[in-house]
Amino acid sequence: MNAQQGRLSVVGLGPGADELVTDQVRAAIAAASDAFGYFPYVARLSGLEHVKLHASDNREELERAREALNTAAEGRQVLMLSSGDPGVFAMASAVFEMLDHAQPQEQARWAAVDIEVLPGITAMLAASARLGAPLGHDFCTINLSDNLKPALVIERRIQLAAQADFAMAFYNPCSKSRPEGFERALRVLRAECEPDRLICFARNVSRPDETLQVHRLADVTAEMADMRTLVIVGNSCTRRVGKHVYTPRSYAV
Ligand code: SAH
Repeated sequence: MNAQQGRLSVVGLGPGADELVTDQVRAAIAAASDAFGYFPYVARLSGLEHVKLHASDNREELERAREALNTAAEGRQVLMLSSGDPGVFAMASAVFEMLDHAQPQEQARWAAVDIEVLPGITAMLAASARLGAPLGHDFCTINLSDNLKPALVIERRIQLAAQADFAMAFYNPCSKSRPEGFERALRVLRAECEPDRLICFARNVSRPDETLQVHRLADVTAEMADMRTLVIVGNSCTRRVGKHVYTPRSYAV
């Protein structure tokens, strides 16, 4: 038996600004011995001498989860870092996938690890707050990356969400390796929505180089979104008031 029970805390660091890290996550960082995560997230802990840092590439999520579980099983206090919220297109599911599909031997080794998931402010909510209230009525969230699901599924979801008049928040609108994601989404939106539909681009929210842009669908081009952008598509009632964008809470307004 280990003297200390190992713990794996899967935490969200929020969208970027230090003041958007929750106190609960701060306390977990203060108590940690090890931190695993994608390079830029691990870099946020680089000044902390009490934490051993284990950075990896963002295509190695399952292997990262395995190593973090193994380290926690040795009795260490391990952090798994995500940006935003760890449950939104991030590491919490990867940890549970690893647990679920592990060999019996590994599952036995990890059984004593205390696993907790600590929430963070996800990019969609940070972006919507900066813009005003574009998600004030019903909305849905779609990851535009076709890494883990077929492109046709993404197109169908956007089409049905537009027909149901949801506002939509798009994560991973495009990356260097897959630039066509947002272009594809735009094609579906143009077929389903009126040209005046408001589309918001929130880039690097809460970071020093934050930018916010709002355009009519008719004026949008694919280059307006990159991998640091969260895109919010308004519903049919989303409108501007002064410098803000909001979606009324009902259709009666
Ligand atoms: N778990 C994260 C999302 C990871 S997916 C969260 O809850 O926020 C990565 C995508 O999130 C990026 O491609 C981008 O679309 C969005 N994103 C993350 N941080 C952002 C920020 N500060 N500003 C704008 N978009 C951001």
